[in-house]
Amino acid sequence: MPDLLPYTDAQALVLARAKPGAVDEVSVWDAAGRVTLAPVQALVDLPPFASSAMDGFAVHAADLPGVVPVVDEVAAGRPATRALRPGEAIAISTGGVVPEGADAVVPVEYVVQHDNTIEVAEHVAAGAHVRPRGGDVAAGEVVVEGGVRIGPAQLGAVAAAGVARVLCARRPRVAILATGSELARPGDELRPGQVYESNGLMLAAALASVGADVELLPAVADDEQAHRDALERGLAADVLVTSGGVSVGPHDLVRQIESELGVEEVFWGVAIKPGKPVSFGVRGATLVFGLPGNPVSSLVGCELFVKPAVRAMQGLRETLPRLEPGRLASPLRRNPGRDEFVRARSRLDRDGAALEPLTGQESHMIVRAAAADALVHVPRGAGELPAGATVSWLRLGERY
Ligand code: AMP
Ligand code: MG
Repeated sequence: MPDLLPYTDAQALVLARAKPGAVDEVSVWDAAGRVTLAPVQALVDLPPFASSAMDGFAVHAADLPGVVPVVDEVAAGRPATRALRPGEAIAISTGGVVPEGADAVVPVEYVVQHDNTIEVAEHVAAGAHVRPRGGDVAAGEVVVEGGVRIGPAQLGAVAAAGVARVLCARRPRVAILATGSELARPGDELRPGQVYESNGLMLAAALASVGADVELLPAVADDEQAHRDALERGLAADVLVTSGGVSVGPHDLVRQIESELGVEEVFWGVAIKPGKPVSFGVRGATLVFGLPGNPVSSLVGCELFVKPAVRAMQGLRETLPRLEPGRLASPLRRNPGRDEFVRARSRLDRDGAALEPLTGQESHMIVRAAAADALVHVPRGAGELPAGATVSWLRLGERY
């Protein structure tokens, strides 16, 4: 294996090649979870008219305190039928159109109602409980910036601003291929020497959660022709992610067959643990990731390299995993040659996040990893990080 790349250099090499693809005009009904390609502009003022923030009475503030007659009623969803003249009140519901001439709303709780009049004991400020037209956003202004994932609040804002179609990058099509003659399908009986195929499912779930349009191909045996057929099929996607077969064993065929199929390798070998033999290449516009077969190596490689690419291909501005600061709850030995990503459990206390590394850090121990909610970054170096040391960590299992 050539010199190992620092993982941040490897990420930069990936991101330099991960670009948004074709534009997709997405209906607002399908836009949850998609990424805006350009700023989304309001089509209407929001609110579209001066509206009442409370159930109460539209008034002329200068008339109060005092007793004024109630001359009309405005419910939400109907235009005001008449203007308010000084000395009058109009009953109004939350969201109702504040009639012309009214400059405040007195909430019903602050009013004593008589037959056809209301009595207000307090002074009322002009503008009170009136939501001005365009107070949230004016028509033409930006509702959601470009490069932003449309979460619930963004979707609400887009819809409220009258936008029914949003320009997004097409979701990248990601083909996932697990390799290994030892792989059995979950549900089938294990024969001697077999293990259940888990990486394909894991990677499919991980990448769907960041917006990929995933195709999980049937797992393939360590056989050249089988590899050729399956890899060629996977290379039709925007991204091909394989698991297994990228180490130096005689049955590790993925890189060799990919090379025969025209994949140009960009790197192989990153200074991380787990996940060292990860490979990355391109064929045309297709990005090709070779993740090692050990399940935790696959998981870490996916977080560090594949997810950022899938985010970038959707035009997201934030592509790299977000590392947060935290403290080690117990010491960790450093690896002299590779940055480690240690599975840990996070706990919030008064001083922020405390991270307890889990026992069982070997790269085949996926069940141990399943108990973790954090990957702690331990930079390579000598000695150990003591308990209490500040580290950066990545939250596992988070969507997007
Ligand atoms: P490899 O990277 O192909 O040398 O595989 C390394 C280890 O990961 C071996 O113990 C494999 O059996 C295991 N492994 C490879 N692929 C998978 C998979 N899809 N699911 C579960 N374990 C796997
Ligand atoms: Mg293998």
